Amino acid sequence: MPARTDRATDPDLLAGLLLARRGQAYFSRKLSELPNARLDAPSLVPGWTRRHVVAHVGLNARALTRLTEWAGTGVETPMYASPDQRDQEIEFAATLPARALRNLSAHAAVHLDVEWRDLPGEAWRAPVRTALGRVVPASETVWMRTREVWVHAVDLDNGGSFADFPAELIDALLADVIGAWHRRLGSAGLPPWVLEPVDREHAVPVGLPVAGPRTAPDGATGTVTLRGTAAALTRWATGRGSAGVLASGVGEVPPPPRWL
Ligand code: ZN
Repeated sequence: MPARTDRATDPDLLAGLLLARRGQAYFSRKLSELPNARLDAPSLVPGWTRRHVVAHVGLNARALTRLTEWAGTGVETPMYASPDQRDQEIEFAATLPARALRNLSAHAAVHLDVEWRDLPGEAWRAPVRTALGRVVPASETVWMRTREVWVHAVDLDNGGSFADFPAELIDALLADVIGAWHRRLGSAGLPPWVLEPVDREHAVPVGLPVAGPRTAPDGATGTVTLRGTAAALTRWATGRGSAGVLASGVGEVPPPPRWL
């Protein structure tokens, strides 16, 4: 019989599920505030309308449902058949009538949540593979969904803001982005930036520190300090603009490396 409450008992996992569900509620609320006539407008994702964002977030829930089912059954069901298939599916779903698009978003989210709720404690550790080929425990699907729903709620561009995000989400997102940069570029391949969130205790170094004076006289080389609220710095790091971020020495805030 299906459980009415989560079968997972690990406190960290339950806290993660709560954050994912709050994010889903946030995304669903922003979407419900958008009338159909405004779905065709551009989103904050370059080249994507709001329809594409809604389609992608719905299809992402289906893909993560497949990973959760994989963990529960041991039968391999990848997120997507291929990157091309993923992109085509988004393009197609984006053309759905508004009502069907909203149904996709809502139903896919509920289905994922049911699969999560019913996944037994030990199955959360089962290995599954992400679309990028990383092998992760099934519990990682919770964070994968969390970052999608919160960040894409902002991408709908109808009032969602990183300033609304819980502090623990902001910190986890920033760590996720910097971790992704390091995996792809290595410490030596990253600019010598230091992020200084004004509302946190600690600065966050990015890349290797520069030997010698922290800022060269011409400001063109050396360490660049980026200052702003943790939310503003995280927004910048995810590639969604540099509003509220100030750069020492160089004046202009440098563009961040790609995140995902
Ligand atoms: Zn996404």
